[in-house]
Amino acid sequence: MFDSNNPQRTPISELGEFGLIDHLVKNSKSKLMNTALAIGDDAGLIDQGAYFTAITTDLLVEGVHFDLSYMPLKHLGYKSIVVNLSDIYAMNGTAEHITVGIAVSNRFSVEALEEIYEGINLACERYNVDLIGGDTTSSTSGLMISITATGRVEKGKATMRSGAKDNDLIVVSGDIGGAYMGLQILEREKEVFIENPDMQPELGGHEYILERQLKPEARKDIVELLHNLKVHPTSMIDISDGLSSEIIHLSKASKHQFNVYENKIPIDPSIYTLCEEFNMNTTTVALNGGEDYELLFTVPIEDHVKIKANPNLSVIGYVKEGSGANLITREDNLIELQAKGFKHNL
Ligand code: ADP
Ligand code: MG
Repeated sequence: MFDSNNPQRTPISELGEFGLIDHLVKNSKSKLMNTALAIGDDAGLIDQGAYFTAITTDLLVEGVHFDLSYMPLKHLGYKSIVVNLSDIYAMNGTAEHITVGIAVSNRFSVEALEEIYEGINLACERYNVDLIGGDTTSSTSGLMISITATGRVEKGKATMRSGAKDNDLIVVSGDIGGAYMGLQILEREKEVFIENPDMQPELGGHEYILERQLKPEARKDIVELLHNLKVHPTSMIDISDGLSSEIIHLSKASKHQFNVYENKIPIDPSIYTLCEEFNMNTTTVALNGGEDYELLFTVPIEDHVKIKANPNLSVIGYVKEGSGANLITREDNLIELQAKGFKHNL
């Protein structure tokens, strides 16, 4: 596309996803008194007086974020909601409302769209959110789903990416790397099918990681757990792009150094065997895999006693003054983390 005001043509790849966002929004300044938090966190915050409203949008594009040859439509509907709600929980909020924008080509039937909505409705039921609007249009190239979610965050409880302090502990919920390995299995079986359509896909025994990829859950339960334990994270983010990339986000936003122990990263045992089979490094998968939708947060060291026995939470490292994000390897070497988790080739 030629822009007459600017004959220069910069490829998007030169900036990367986050560089591009920074570049595009650099001239956008908040004017309204009630804009409490704008671009740069998991959700924006609007000051409603007694509380904040959190608001977030995600766009899922066929062929980029999902492949309909192995993604059942009902799961797609479900996942599209979950990935948005995850951003509301990352602000320590309660998700409340969603709108759904959908662009669809004429290769989809009404029944196919009904399946997507079955998944959307199921997620709304499970997470107690209401669908309050959206938009429907045609598409010339595949299916696109854009969801906006809003939530309510108590004042004083919002967890921004920028709040981590010296000596805080770095904590992650659940386990990570599963969604990525689930995708590897699905891609492998797709290849086999393309070469030999008579072969049945071998998915047995991989239920856990397939579910992590096809039907992830957002960690509403962790937000509630932390509330019940009276633990207030100093910063929080959800793991969509990969642990490494999210740690770097927290470190940059909080202007502190983040150090993570390789041997403390929670990984499901099945992933070790699978990584051997695929000739992949388990730590690399855990750091760069993405799409696990777990919560990554920091807590004051005093809260360690409240969380240490909980099987859903793993302390993986610590925060200190300084900058940068490092992995402390099993051999006790310090390696700087790289943000390899750039989403989908951008
Ligand atoms: P997340 O992975 O939590 O959804 P992203 O990495 O997609 O967050 O986005 C980072 C930040 O940039 C968020 O605050 C998001 O709202 C904002 N953002 C992303 N794309 C745009 C855009 N095109 N215009 C304005 N803000 C954007
Ligand atoms: Mg997020």
